Amino acid sequence: MGSDAEKLHIFLFPFMASGHMIPMIDIARLFAARGNKSTIITTPLNALLIQESINGDQKSGLDIGVQIIPFPSVEVGLPEGCENPNTITSPEMTVKFFEACDMLQQPFEKLLEEQKPDCVVGDMFLTWTTDAAKKYGIPRLVFHGKCYFPLCVVENITRFAPHEKVESDSDIFIVPGLPDRIEMTKSQLPPTRENKNKMTDIQAKVLETEVTSYGVLVNSFYEMEPAYADYYKKGMGRRAWNIGPVSLYNRDSKAQRGQKATIDDNYCISWLNSKETNSVLYVSFGSLYRIGTIQMHEIAMGLEASGVPFIWVVRTKNDSEHALPEGFEDRTQGKGLIIREWAPQVLILDHPAVGGFMTHCGWNSTFEGITAGVPLITWPLFAEQFHNEKLVTQVLKIGIESGNKLWKSWMEPDSVLVTKERIQEVVTQLMSNGIETEDMRRRAKELREMAKRAIEKGGSSYNELTALIEELKVNKQKFKQ
Ligand code: UDP
Repeated sequence: MGSDAEKLHIFLFPFMASGHMIPMIDIARLFAARGNKSTIITTPLNALLIQESINGDQKSGLDIGVQIIPFPSVEVGLPEGCENPNTITSPEMTVKFFEACDMLQQPFEKLLEEQKPDCVVGDMFLTWTTDAAKKYGIPRLVFHGKCYFPLCVVENITRFAPHEKVESDSDIFIVPGLPDRIEMTKSQLPPTRENKNKMTDIQAKVLETEVTSYGVLVNSFYEMEPAYADYYKKGMGRRAWNIGPVSLYNRDSKAQRGQKATIDDNYCISWLNSKETNSVLYVSFGSLYRIGTIQMHEIAMGLEASGVPFIWVVRTKNDSEHALPEGFEDRTQGKGLIIREWAPQVLILDHPAVGGFMTHCGWNSTFEGITAGVPLITWPLFAEQFHNEKLVTQVLKIGIESGNKLWKSWMEPDSVLVTKERIQEVVTQLMSNGIETEDMRRRAKELREMAKRAIEKGGSSYNELTALIEELKVNKQKFKQ
């Protein structure tokens, strides 16, 4: 640990969604564990969640805290208390939400002026943190919450536009210039918006600030995707530090991530203890996506027909009591565990009874699955989730595709993306432990071991963080002179 003069003060400003806040809290913890001070900037309601997550860290002596900025939801026409995208239900609300985020720049600059941190880790969506930090001579690191692979894919799709050369949305194109042959379809990309709007502006700004900022923090480890780490840094010329898996630094408090689980951890563990090794499928679609009733029924029937034990995190679009087919819970009692709203995901994934994970391919979930050594059934929906699917199935080869080929935001109407027959087929295939699954499982377990080594002293992620901290300390000294 360094002296107080050497100690860095890091500001971390996550976008207010769980999938962005959770890894940012881990990063705050990580800097603090190396003898630095971490301050997480957030809005009042999100601060309550973050404070819960860091109580234990503060008790154990880490210099980590929360700084609150009010969120102008009412000012932009959002309902009071709308501070987290999980309360957004329409594209119009999304635009307003981002407008409110932009209004945080001024109070954020005030904090920079008052506290003069040595570095700002700003979420990809809070693009103005680059300019704000620059005003005060402070380096801003971008955090996308992704690994290298999707960053490379997005860059080359933007640069070469291969999707514009295919005739239909379902025609396969190859993403040019990448280390592997990566196949995608146009339907797996976010819909191109003919008219420029707030969201297209933000996307363009995200790409721009990736270049104009001090560098990029990447939630990945080198050994998982060496060709893409090299391509990103050397081929694309970006400055980046891979410091992940950040969730692995948090193993002591793995039960409380983001929100309090809606099931007792001990009950969950004892339920899993009663199952055979690698026999249970864990099913979850992340913190934002709410499945509609029609698709929900298909999943239920597919799972039931497979006969495979499962834990399923059910988050419905509305609180409809008909979300699950009638009698489903009775028929699957003992075989299936339904968790409504929020599961202790990392705790579940790390249990030896869990042998597969049906995931929407949000990067945190995907990476948590990888670091638990579990093969995946990929069911991407929106954001960069289809890119993550390709990493899992075409590069790492540790998963099977569910077959969904349609990019679809959680605000769009309910429809069947994957049928019950297909769900039964992929679940049976993954959980039958045939040669193919055993190969995937072996590769997943190898990745798990590599991930653990990467964050240990002397490991690749450990060393990258050391190099970054040293560089920031040199900057701090220079700034003082
Ligand atoms: N998560 C959880 N319990 C749940 C749902 C999600 O702990 O019931 C956590 C999960 O472990 C991950 C994050 O929430 O860390 C979700 O992030 P991800 O990138 O996977 O998807 P998003 O929610 O952003 O779509």
